[in-house]
Amino acid sequence: MKVVKFGGSSLASASQLEKVLKIVQDDPERRFVVVSAPGKRDAEDTKVTDLLIRYYRKYTEDKDVSNAQKRIINRYASMVEELKLKPTVLDKIKQSILDLAKLPIDNNPFLYDSFLAAGEDNNAKLIAAYFNQNGLEARYVHPKEAGLIVSDEPGNARILPSSYDKIEELNETDEVLVIPGFFGVTQENQICTFSRGGSDITGSIIAAGVKADLYENFTDVDGIFAAHPGIIKNPRSIPELTYREMRELAYAGFSVLHDEALIPAYRGKIPLVIKNTNNPQHPGTKIVLEHSQKEIPVVGIAGDSNFVSINMSKYLMNREVGFGRKVLQILEDLNIRWEHMPTGIDDLSIILRKRELTPIKEEEILRQLRQKIQVDHAEIEHDLSIIMIVGEKMKSHIGLTATATKALSDNHINIQMMSQGSSEVSIMFVINSEQEKAAIKALYKAFFQEEA
Ligand code: ASP
Repeated sequence: MKVVKFGGSSLASASQLEKVLKIVQDDPERRFVVVSAPGKRDAEDTKVTDLLIRYYRKYTEDKDVSNAQKRIINRYASMVEELKLKPTVLDKIKQSILDLAKLPIDNNPFLYDSFLAAGEDNNAKLIAAYFNQNGLEARYVHPKEAGLIVSDEPGNARILPSSYDKIEELNETDEVLVIPGFFGVTQENQICTFSRGGSDITGSIIAAGVKADLYENFTDVDGIFAAHPGIIKNPRSIPELTYREMRELAYAGFSVLHDEALIPAYRGKIPLVIKNTNNPQHPGTKIVLEHSQKEIPVVGIAGDSNFVSINMSKYLMNREVGFGRKVLQILEDLNIRWEHMPTGIDDLSIILRKRELTPIKEEEILRQLRQKIQVDHAEIEHDLSIIMIVGEKMKSHIGLTATATKALSDNHINIQMMSQGSSEVSIMFVINSEQEKAAIKALYKAFFQEEA
């Protein structure tokens, strides 16, 4: 039995919903359907969730909300009309959108979440009605009924572990269940959403709860590409990735799946596949616990910009007990998260994301490094990118770093720092951001033997 999740672009219009119906009808094992809110129909369009944010702002600023309400209702109305659904469906959706403007504003930490959740909630109602009208027995299930009980952290909910038993009871039905993604209810019965893009998380939770054989996550691309298609023309789609590889790629900028969505499926040992609603025959990318396939040492190449490096050196640093702790204490006191820490004998760098710093914090770090721990030299370097080559099987191959560094040096790319964790799932290079695209092209060519 399979849990299928459809993202916003798969549900943006009547013609997309027709594809969704066909996908669900094609395989009787597709029993649980988790849906996002309607997404963009084209590049200029606005996602329903973003329209709901505008509506929320107007409402809380005490401005006229009628246009905001109309735009949202019209998105659903055009689908109801094109799919020739009964008008009662739209009446219910309309009422639910209008009712949002009756919710209390004061002392209501869940108001924003209640607005946002309406996007997926109404879409699930519409889709269940559409399935039924086309001979597929289906039922809309509210997350409360499904047992999705979450922590009370508005905009950042986490599933309570006790929820899973109740979710398992969803198995006791023969109908296809249509469940809105992105939110759950708190123990006090408040609507609380996951972070943005969180319908992926719902899908993963449901898959783990009902102990699905497979979690199919439908989006608008043929799975996960070995490199960013904006940089490499027609990159290959990766047939199989492990959870760890996926995590590494996601870290360095691959954003096909929500970061947190991997955890429930991983813990429940549910295989996950990313597929394309617009090309469902394509096998997509399977995310598994262990590779089943032949030895592919490198599965993908990712790059991400906006990194900064705090570089310092101090003669005989290696002999000084507590040096590293003191440096990290400075960052902790300033509430700064760091990412990597490559070291030499007498020098140490801390790589972090630019958003963690402000000019004032930068000055303060340098001051404390010089005064508190008397470094000989300290500087902050900006405009850095990290490039990662990822693959679990790299561990059992010799010469991959050589291939990578040769490709970079042949293309006159200066490697500022290099690091490889002991798990050897990835090798990371820090380079100047100006050379990020060239580096990805060079590495893609070196590892996938294709003209980039
Ligand atoms: N609709 C929500 C968002 O735009 C959640 C999702 O689509 O997964 O963030």
